Amino acid sequence: MALYQEMTKEQLSKLLVNLEAEYTSYKAKNLKLDMSRGKPGADQMDLSADLLCAVPTSAEARAADGTDCRNYGVLDGIPEAKALMAPLMDVGLDEVLVGGTSSLNLMFDCVARAMTHGVVGSLRPWCKEEGLKFLCPSPGYDRHFAVTQHFGFELISIPMTPQGPDMDLVEKLVASDEKIKGIWCVPKYSNPQGITYSDDTVRRLANLSPAAPDFRIFWDNAYSVHDLYPENPDILLPLLPELKKNGKENMAFLFCSTAKITFAGEGLAALGASKENLAQIKASMAFQLIGHDKLNQLRHVRFLKDMDGIRAQMARHAEIIRPKFELVLSTLKKELGGTGLGSWIEPKGGYFIALDVMEGCAKHVVALCKEAGVVMTGAGASSPYGVDPMDTTIRIAPTFPTLEELGQAANLLCLCVKIACVQKLLAA
Ligand code: PLP
Repeated sequence: MALYQEMTKEQLSKLLVNLEAEYTSYKAKNLKLDMSRGKPGADQMDLSADLLCAVPTSAEARAADGTDCRNYGVLDGIPEAKALMAPLMDVGLDEVLVGGTSSLNLMFDCVARAMTHGVVGSLRPWCKEEGLKFLCPSPGYDRHFAVTQHFGFELISIPMTPQGPDMDLVEKLVASDEKIKGIWCVPKYSNPQGITYSDDTVRRLANLSPAAPDFRIFWDNAYSVHDLYPENPDILLPLLPELKKNGKENMAFLFCSTAKITFAGEGLAALGASKENLAQIKASMAFQLIGHDKLNQLRHVRFLKDMDGIRAQMARHAEIIRPKFELVLSTLKKELGGTGLGSWIEPKGGYFIALDVMEGCAKHVVALCKEAGVVMTGAGASSPYGVDPMDTTIRIAPTFPTLEELGQAANLLCLCVKIACVQKLLAA
């Protein structure tokens, strides 16, 4: 396909007439499609139908150690639930706490706790300091950024590279500014680009020398087993062992959940941390609640069993969502490949594809899609403060629509990219 940037104004104007005619016919279809949030489809959740009755009677509501899961107690999770969740974060059984149904909730609480009570190594509450800052690899997960914005942090954007966050910049900033209290990381199949951090990136993160004694890496391994090609997965170097090698094991909080393994919003979340960190967290959490939902823990253990069970479940998910990713990627390639209008990374897992369009066009593309009945994640959502300074990144969430809907939505998206970019080129 020809590079649009090399076309004459006459060629572009002629093209635009055809593109707009095509757009009008799309509008007449009255589409109502949603590619905005990374939700699993109903068919994916059907894979976990048996979870609903995995603890069918009171007699079966006991944990292996005899704990009656219907009753109060066990703040950090029943042992078999810890055994289920720990490998998802590559931590030991004494380095895991099983929480409620949301890992985001655990992350929020870790920030809140640090704000009011500090962290191991510096019990001075973060909130006692002015001008707090947090590093936000961007594009990234909007809800991460929102948590730290909510607590009043200045969000510092860190460019993502194909190996993870720009580590030269991260190292320089954290070493020189004690107001920087942490960094958000989605280390495997990052949201939204699907990037897995390289070994070198993990090692450099594990060896940071922050000016702030209370600096923490928030390691959200939300997509640790979410491989689209289970026979050829990305491999992430485990963080905690690397931290231990450097004697810096208190520098990270790790998170995961089964949101996209079993039920989204109704799964099982877990936190991984050094023993010292966990002790501080549990001491504070004991004021918050008596114990999380142990019946849900038991249901998950009975249903998923172990890592083999999880991998088998994820292979079934991959069967459903791989064709969706492949459809979007092949449409992008067919419609936008070689045009110079967009670029993207082909993720091997996770829940998203990030499309970078010509600078200054993303918002317009998303607005055009919306007008024709396809809701995309708001342009800018993947950037701190919801503002993409280049107005270039569009997050595509292919899992929720059906294949047929997705085909229409992906074609429309490409059409809108062409229209917005051609208009921009004509205006230049
Ligand atoms: N972390 C990342 C990177 C996500 O993309 C999402 C959901 O999209 C979550 C966390 C939410 O996880 P949970 O449902 O466990 O709160």
